Amino acid sequence: MRIGQGWDLHRLEKGRPLIIGGVTVPFEKGCAAHSDGDVLIHALIDALLGAAAEGNIGILFPDSDPQYKNADSRELLRETVKRLSPRWKTVNVDATVVLQAPKLNPFIDEMRSRLAADLNLDTAAVSIKPKTHEKIGSVGRGEAVEAFVSVLIAPAE
Ligand code: MG
Repeated sequence: MRIGQGWDLHRLEKGRPLIIGGVTVPFEKGCAAHSDGDVLIHALIDALLGAAAEGNIGILFPDSDPQYKNADSRELLRETVKRLSPRWKTVNVDATVVLQAPKLNPFIDEMRSRLAADLNLDTAAVSIKPKTHEKIGSVGRGEAVEAFVSVLIAPAE
């Protein structure tokens, strides 16, 4: 088995959709990004690529490529899973999303089931834990959102 970790941060701006773990969370601000700005999925893709030692999200899906403008991050995740699938399958995911507001707890189960579907996993193998940043720093002032992801992968049969 192999372990991988991923991290991502996005700036929050007024008038942008806030999409986390494939779920649109109602809020006045969202992620400024080339793609749909899904910070959790970006960290998850990097964790998967890191576990397999197959590069990083910026190499696979360059933000200079117009093909990925406003890209649906779930599609990028499914593409990553497909790329690794001849050699690796995902065992479990444990993630932390750091966001001052809004509260994410009502959306966590929907995020887990969407990510589990994209990873061909049982929802029980996908954990997502929301945290605040105690009102300090850029995340605590509501200027950014951050995600940390650990994954375990095992050889495909
Ligand atoms: Mg990103």
